[in-house]
Amino acid sequence: MNLGVTDKEKLKDVEDFATSKVRKRASEVDETSSFPVDLVKEMGEIGVFAIYIPREYGGLGLSLGTLMESIRIISRECASTSLIPDVTVSLFGEPILKYGNEELKRKYLSRVAKGTIGALAITEPGAGSDAAAIKTTATRKGNGFIINGGKTFITNGAEAEFFLASAVTDKEKRHHGITLFALDKEMSGLSIGKEFKKMGIRGTSTTEVLLDNVEVGEEQIVGGFNEGFKIEMDTLNVGRIGIASQAIGISEGAIGDVIRFQEQHKGAQREGMSFRLADMVNLLHSSVAKYYESVEYAGAGRDPTLLSSLSKLQAGDAAVKITEEAVGLLGYHAFRDEFPTERRFREAKITQIYEGTNEIQRVIISREILKKGGTDF
Ligand SMILES: Cc1cc2nc3c(=O)[nH]c(=O)nc-3n(C[C@H](O)[C@H](O)[C@H](O)COP(=O)(O)OP(=O)(O)OC[C@H]3O[C@@H](n4cnc5c(N)ncnc54)[C@H](O)[C@@H]3O)c2cc1C
Repeated sequence: MNLGVTDKEKLKDVEDFATSKVRKRASEVDETSSFPVDLVKEMGEIGVFAIYIPREYGGLGLSLGTLMESIRIISRECASTSLIPDVTVSLFGEPILKYGNEELKRKYLSRVAKGTIGALAITEPGAGSDAAAIKTTATRKGNGFIINGGKTFITNGAEAEFFLASAVTDKEKRHHGITLFALDKEMSGLSIGKEFKKMGIRGTSTTEVLLDNVEVGEEQIVGGFNEGFKIEMDTLNVGRIGIASQAIGISEGAIGDVIRFQEQHKGAQREGMSFRLADMVNLLHSSVAKYYESVEYAGAGRDPTLLSSLSKLQAGDAAVKITEEAVGLLGYHAFRDEFPTERRFREAKITQIYEGTNEIQRVIISREILKKGGTDF
């Protein structure tokens, strides 16, 4: 990936932070399912949240690639810790930056840059893969709207100060009748419901967000009225590259475990095992190649739909295979807590599920290729 000097310097800071601080805390964060307050504070201080926010809004004005690489580096140590800024910046900050009015940009982006947490709230019971099937409504009242409904499985739900939430504004128009609203935690009627226990990324909160007669002004609309679905899809196109980078980081961590293990247990190296390690490296390499291509595409302002889906599909499926194989190669050393490999296996699985399951990525890829009418990439 082509990165400037300042971008590389920032990634060095992120790497130092990840290897010195995150590595030490990762197992405890997982075992106690506790949000890593200290690590999030430090990510705010060293500028992880600020990387991609333009300077005029209080950020560092660095590239999308630098943000993605920082997610990858932190994910090598702990996929919970990396997810918190990833969701805040790529799922809340990015759509505000791209589609928000000037007032919204001024209101939210400098706070995102400092490490104030944000969330994207689309999913509802019965509306996961089919994001157009939401039931939450926003009804006009004077110059604003009243929002009623509820969201579920929202990352950062318990800690977020602001949410980007979808609501039906014209039921007849289905996905052309959805609008996105920026909501503040303190708005009357917004509350956090149940928090879910999870198999992985246990250091992040995943909650319900309840919306009971939440009054918002028209100025809180992100993008145009009834244009929310298009913006959601566009946001997820970039978000999926972040999930690919997370999956790659998890895979690199698992391959690192295998290398360390084999160095410590020379007698454990057999020819058949080296074939398995080679297959893991092959899968990782394909993931990295697609991910780099998708970052370059999106960073250059081109439509990354096909590439970001290919990238998430490849990296997520590969991460599950690689971490499973790593557990297998380490045997009982991984099954118990001697190495963090079993945690990585549990972390990898979510990358096939959120921001559109990998089955949905396949639906998108085939639709895009049929639309293109060929495979001249
Ligand atoms: C830990 C976690 C964090 C999350 N964070 C967020 C968040 O921050 N914000 C947010 O809005 N949402 C979030 N989600 C929700 C997530 O995006 C959804 O879980 C995901 O989109 C899948 O929806 P679903 O779980 O309702 O599954 P369903 O849509 O019910 O799908 C069930 C199964 O059917 C398959 N399937 C569904 N439709 C099709 C189809 N058309 N073709 C082929 N197969 C299909 C799916 O691939 C899946 O295997 C999170 C989920 C989890 C688990």
